[in-house]
Amino acid sequence: MSKKTKIIQKREECIGCGSCTIVCQKFWKMNEKDMKADLIGGKINDSGEYELEIKNISAEDLDCNKQAADVCPVKIIKII
Ligand code: SF4
Repeated sequence: MSKKTKIIQKREECIGCGSCTIVCQKFWKMNEKDMKADLIGGKINDSGEYELEIKNISAEDLDCNKQAADVCPVKIIKII
C-alpha cells in the first residue's frame, strides 16, 4: 500500500526570509519575481494554498521538508 504525504504552503503569507530554501533546496526555491518561496512542483489548491503530494516519500525528503517547516518563522509550511 502506498502512503501519501502532502507538503502545504500558505504562500501568500511568505515573508521571503529564504530559510526553507537553505535547509531544503530540493523542494524550495526563491521566486525572484515576488521574493517569496516556491514549493517546487506545488499546485494551488481550493484553499489558495500550494500543495505537493508525494507517494512514499523518502525519509530524507520528509526530513528535509520537516526542517523547512521548523525554520519557517511564520509557520506556513505544513506536512500532513
Ligand atoms: S521559511 Fe517560510 S517565510 Fe521563509 S521563505 Fe520559506 S516559506 Fe517563506
